[in-house]
Amino acid sequence: MQGGEGFSLILNLMQKHPIIPALLVLLIGMLSLTAAAQSPDPDHQKAVTLLRQMTLDEKIGQMTQVTLGVVCTPKDGVLDPAALARIVVDHHIGSILNVTNHALTVEQWHIVLRQIQDAAMKTRLKIPVIYGLDGIHGQTYTLDATLFPQNIGMAATRNIELAAAVTKVAARELRASGVRWNFAPVLDCGRQPLWSRFPETYGEDVYIGKTLGAAVIKAYEGDGLRNPTSVASCMKHYLGYSASRTGKDRTPIYLPDIELREYYLPQFRAAVQAGASTIMVNSGEINGTPVHASKYLLTDVLRKELGFRGVAVTDWEDIIRLHTRHNVAATPRAAVVMAVNAGIDMSMVPYDLSFSSLLKEAVQKGEVSMSRIDEAVTRILELKYKLGLFDQPYPEETAAKNFGLPDYQSLALQAAREAMTLLQNQDGILPLAHNTHILVSGPSAQSISALNGCWSYTWQGKEEQWYPKDSKTILQALRDKWGGGNVSTTSVPGFDSRDNYDTMALRSAAAGADVIVLCLGENAYAESPGNTGDLALPDEQLALARTAAATGKPVILVLTEGRPRFITSIAPLMKGILLAYWSGRKTAEAISDVIAGDYNPDGILPFSYPRSMGEMVLYDRKPTEEVREIFNSDMTMDGYKPLFPFGFGLSYTQWEYSNLQLSTTQLKGSGSLTVSLTVKNTGSRDGKHTVELYTRQHYASITPSMRRLRAFTKIFLKAGESQTVKFTLRKEDLAFVNAQLRTVTEPGDFDVMVGDKKAVFTYMNTAQ
Ligand code: BGC
Repeated sequence: MQGGEGFSLILNLMQKHPIIPALLVLLIGMLSLTAAAQSPDPDHQKAVTLLRQMTLDEKIGQMTQVTLGVVCTPKDGVLDPAALARIVVDHHIGSILNVTNHALTVEQWHIVLRQIQDAAMKTRLKIPVIYGLDGIHGQTYTLDATLFPQNIGMAATRNIELAAAVTKVAARELRASGVRWNFAPVLDCGRQPLWSRFPETYGEDVYIGKTLGAAVIKAYEGDGLRNPTSVASCMKHYLGYSASRTGKDRTPIYLPDIELREYYLPQFRAAVQAGASTIMVNSGEINGTPVHASKYLLTDVLRKELGFRGVAVTDWEDIIRLHTRHNVAATPRAAVVMAVNAGIDMSMVPYDLSFSSLLKEAVQKGEVSMSRIDEAVTRILELKYKLGLFDQPYPEETAAKNFGLPDYQSLALQAAREAMTLLQNQDGILPLAHNTHILVSGPSAQSISALNGCWSYTWQGKEEQWYPKDSKTILQALRDKWGGGNVSTTSVPGFDSRDNYDTMALRSAAAGADVIVLCLGENAYAESPGNTGDLALPDEQLALARTAAATGKPVILVLTEGRPRFITSIAPLMKGILLAYWSGRKTAEAISDVIAGDYNPDGILPFSYPRSMGEMVLYDRKPTEEVREIFNSDMTMDGYKPLFPFGFGLSYTQWEYSNLQLSTTQLKGSGSLTVSLTVKNTGSRDGKHTVELYTRQHYASITPSMRRLRAFTKIFLKAGESQTVKFTLRKEDLAFVNAQLRTVTEPGDFDVMVGDKKAVFTYMNTAQ
């Protein structure tokens, strides 16, 4: 049969049987769907093809990541050509990270990266190097890059679009520097305020963590990794890293699976769904198993359950530590075998190249299969293809143009302003009038590092000489606004300078002031150097607060800190308390804007501000955490008593909720329920405001939480305006992890709570 005959036969059939055209359309649709499902990703295909040409040494080289210092002269950022050739050409190393001591200029980065890629182009297969950095709150390691609030501050903004916008700037400034892989975002849940990496978290709530985390990952990668506005993201640190029992960095975690799945895993599940390309593993151990050695977590959960297909990189030196610190591998080779078989694709060695030789030995002895190596290397090569490194390994001109654009500064100011969380405003002391005489005191009044925190131009963020020259201190920002004549100070530069703790000087200087702005908190720290044995503010800071209050002048306490430090004993003495976190380049300006009333504060707490060591209950507590009793007869349910609760934050205007309505009181099966309410700005100032929706299940197969955040939105209303706010709830929004470790929604009655309003509905596990 010729083509033409066949065609007329089909036409004939179609005329006789009118159903056939519809069937044909269906068939073609199904065939193309199957083809799409089967047709391999072209970058994956290229990776597989390249892999076939590679020797074992070349493959293992791709699985190895070293730190920049290994290929540098002792001078910062200056490469040693011989060391570079040894690492990239002789050892085939496929990835480099970090800086030597401090941030470099964009031009210096370009020189470094061009030299590195030149070396890579001299290798047999010309496989480009993938460079990774920690742009934790903006591009940490490029001088003059824009730094934004730490994640804890971004969580206080409750502004998802804003979080995405600042992330896009971070991505642009990384890529402008020539770097296409960012070790962010941190998705660890901040439920242990002692932890030195608390500021890098989105706070204590799972929903905020997964919502902001997913938005941030889309912002890093959503334009497509080849696009010069994108970078590969890295969800970290998988899994449970933040939950160390002691609160000290990298110390053991004890978590039952039910808790792990309820509070720590959902952020990673959402991040995988959002398209994250890479993941970094928790340096710690859970229930005695180092996560780097856990096949259960790295393969069964991460790959099989969450469906992650990207690259899994270790954290710093973590494979050898299975032998040297955790003592679960009797030899260094056993450590390598353990980690690679568990599911590690790339080892951040970052100095010791024995990883490569030990892995080779292990493959030759049959302890690690060739297919495991191929799987890891394919993932790494595929990522390099996706990032466009094979097309253009060098820093891109088009990307470089995106560095330091003027609107980044206004975005940094907006982010810092929205992070500001006003915790106390007795007698409406704030905002201060423009003719007020202010005395500024305290260690962070003239510190830049105490406004930015960790990962700010250096790892620890403490060295102020690397900060942009136009960075302002709180003192400068207040003087800009009130005029030098109205602002005096007892502070000196340098957080730790003894003069900052001089109570006598404070007492005598207060005489001429109308109000004291007292700047306390924490200087920058990161990781283990930030470990602390005590969340109390140091005595010398408390002494300043008491002295300030004893002068009789009203005191405004400004806290710049990465984690909540106890202020319970001094809080009642303060007229105002403003929590500024570490909010980046524009922290000082945002503080002075709020104090002056040029910005109406709208940040709200992403954690429960604890009262004391014995009162560390989190907002999503279980019912019996609320119980306080001596005898049954005096039982009260008031056990959640932080100094300031989760979600708390004052405004200069007033917000009123009314008319809470549910579209139905019976949510059935996979249906939905709309919650609506009217929000009114009843005060006299315009402002932004976050509306949060919580639910509580009355009874469930395991103890239900007293409240869980299920949705939030941020609105802007002019004075006197009102708006109807709507939320949609579905079965999934009410779910929890049950005793069988399954995420379920059980039928029953639920409270839905928005502000002081509450309604009840029933979830029924039936068809709609
Ligand atoms: C940190 C990681 C970081 C890595 C590379 C480690 O010490 O735990 O978060 O990405 O260093 O700088």
